[in-house]
Amino acid sequence: SYQPCREFHVVVLGAGGVGKSCLTAQFVHNEWIESYDPTIEDSYRTQISVDGRQVVLEILDTAGTEQFVAMRDLYMKSGQGFLLVFSIASKSSFDELTTLREEIIRIKDDDRIPIVIVGNKADLEDQRAVNRASAFALSQRWDAPYYESSARTRINVDEVFTDLCRQLLRRDDL
Ligand code: GDP
Ligand code: MG
Repeated sequence: SYQPCREFHVVVLGAGGVGKSCLTAQFVHNEWIESYDPTIEDSYRTQISVDGRQVVLEILDTAGTEQFVAMRDLYMKSGQGFLLVFSIASKSSFDELTTLREEIIRIKDDDRIPIVIVGNKADLEDQRAVNRASAFALSQRWDAPYYESSARTRINVDEVFTDLCRQLLRRDDL
């Protein structure tokens, strides 16, 4: 049967410095760049195949530098799925996810929004500040999958975006 190409808006959220831009660039362009301007917010379009279905993703790599709260509300409203990224080497970046999720739920007025929790910088195991058990507990509470990724070594980069797409497709099919 014919299945039209679906298009989804995905927003990458998380504290500054957790690796949002590096993850996005690895996913979209397959490249590792050591350093991005932390104030640059940009969006990328890419097409992927998920379980044999073509999906176009519009990915917004946020920088948290919006001058007006209304701007952030706007992109949260237009986002259909969210990657909530922290660094496994930063406890405060992990704690920030709770506020971010509350904002999403408030703005979308829906607590069933597709989310993937991403513990990035998994290559920095010796600097780990967030244990896996805490992250899994959060994942269970929110009923959202948890992945540990590394933008640097390209671990679980495709997986986090693909998982989010699967959730979006599933929601779409209902
Ligand atoms: P953003 O502010 O969330 O967009 O963070 P960036 O993508 O700009 O990355 C911030 C810093 O973390 C940069 O110095 C990156 O090189 C570094 N970084 C990003 N991802 C990783 C990773 O997976 N492992 C390690 N070791 N460093 C990373
Ligand atoms: Mg960035």
